[in-house]
Amino acid sequence: MGNIVAIVGRPNVGKSTLFNRLTESKDAIVDEISGVTRDRLYGRSNWGGKEFSVIDTGGYVHGSEDIFEEEIRKQVILAMEEADAIIFVLDVVIGITDLDQVVANMLRKIKKPVFVVSNKVDNNARILQSSEFYSLGLGEVYSVSAINGSGTGELLDDLIKCIDSREDEEVDLPKITVAGRPNVGKSSFINALLGEERNIVTPIAGTTRDSIGTRYNAYGFDFMLIDTAGLRKKGKVTEDLEFYSVLRSIRAIEKSDVVLIMIDAQEGLQAQDMNIVNIAQKNSKGIVVLVNKWDLIVKETNSTKVFEEQIKRKMAPFTDVPILFISVHEKQRVLKSLDAALKVYKNLTRKIATRVLNETMLPIVERNPPPATKGKYVKIKYITQIPTRAPSFAFFCNLPQYVKEPYKRFLENQLREQFAFTGVPLNIFMRKK
Ligand code: GDP
Ligand code: GDP
Repeated sequence: MGNIVAIVGRPNVGKSTLFNRLTESKDAIVDEISGVTRDRLYGRSNWGGKEFSVIDTGGYVHGSEDIFEEEIRKQVILAMEEADAIIFVLDVVIGITDLDQVVANMLRKIKKPVFVVSNKVDNNARILQSSEFYSLGLGEVYSVSAINGSGTGELLDDLIKCIDSREDEEVDLPKITVAGRPNVGKSSFINALLGEERNIVTPIAGTTRDSIGTRYNAYGFDFMLIDTAGLRKKGKVTEDLEFYSVLRSIRAIEKSDVVLIMIDAQEGLQAQDMNIVNIAQKNSKGIVVLVNKWDLIVKETNSTKVFEEQIKRKMAPFTDVPILFISVHEKQRVLKSLDAALKVYKNLTRKIATRVLNETMLPIVERNPPPATKGKYVKIKYITQIPTRAPSFAFFCNLPQYVKEPYKRFLENQLREQFAFTGVPLNIFMRKK
């Protein structure tokens, strides 16, 4: 069992509100760095020390009330195929509608855990009304108010029992995945590396849960290539759905160390690509941007520079990322892309000795102390790298609550300047000495 939870239900039952409630982070800096405000579709949740991913399928449903049913059917099928657990949200004030019945009928057929949430139970009087939802035949009903948070604790307690957030540690090699929208050239890239016969991998739709990894060992490179959307034969469900490719990508990204985000040079970095960037950032994965089909661009003297600036503007504030201009067709910089990925992997796993960290950073901090707030002076005394998988740094000081976002960003930039962390999201924490 993996750790992707999908929220389904018809419009206006409170999916998005619940999504926000489940993914709200206590650590604002983490959110700030990863740009949590950019999308409401994908978030990380942590309950009782267990981390998992939450997807709000509602964010992908477009259309008016009457054309919703078909859309929602598709979302639910995808959620059933690709997620590991499902939260089915209903509105206690409205009760069971025809559309709710449609969804329930679909959910009754699957073996995965389904959590029935009776939402908008803002007061005790409404708890009684929730019992109506037992008639859906999906087991336990959780009475929740997504708006005020009541009942979410019980839901999460039971949810994490079915979540497996163990990291797959069996392979010690760097794990790399290629993510991106359809048709940007992901399969061509992989095929160029692995040989065309690779294309024949066609697991039966709905039976294979785990992404497939392939060990790549050639030209002095040795790593695991993690499969993602577009590489496998698509299932019976329409493949053009953004939600589908996003779900596929999430699983592959979570299993990887470094994500090669491939974009089409003719299209540039689009909103959907930023979703992938966000997912990678929120999971503290290394990132390399590959601008493919560079052969199709009519070059001028500063084309790469102009492109690079455009991409970085969209990715800001996380711009310390390698960007390569490649052509799979013309075999330009394909191996260089791997090289960049492995360099980023090195950065991701870099551990700075505490002595070096303090000798380097303390003088900088001394020259540029945090600005005084309300007459109080913050004194940073000691810095250490927290032994987590991705680089995280704790700055110990007298008044951590007085250190504001801009100063944390300054610290991050200094760390990037002093040590090589290109392509890697950094986490900065202020801690009480
Ligand atoms: P979605 O379309 O399913 O994503 O629903 P939203 O999250 O957008 O919520 C639809 C409406 O229901 C909004 O006006 C929310 O403020 C409201 N809502 C969501 N959760 C609750 C709740 O727990 N109690 C009440 N009273 N209203 C809620
Ligand atoms: P995927 O959906 O991301 O896996 O994309 P594909 O690998 O299937 O490629 C989509 C299309 O782009 C195919 O027609 C490829 O031949 C084409 N393509 C891939 N790489 C390049 C490239 O470097 N240059 C050009 N001109 N076309 C490319």
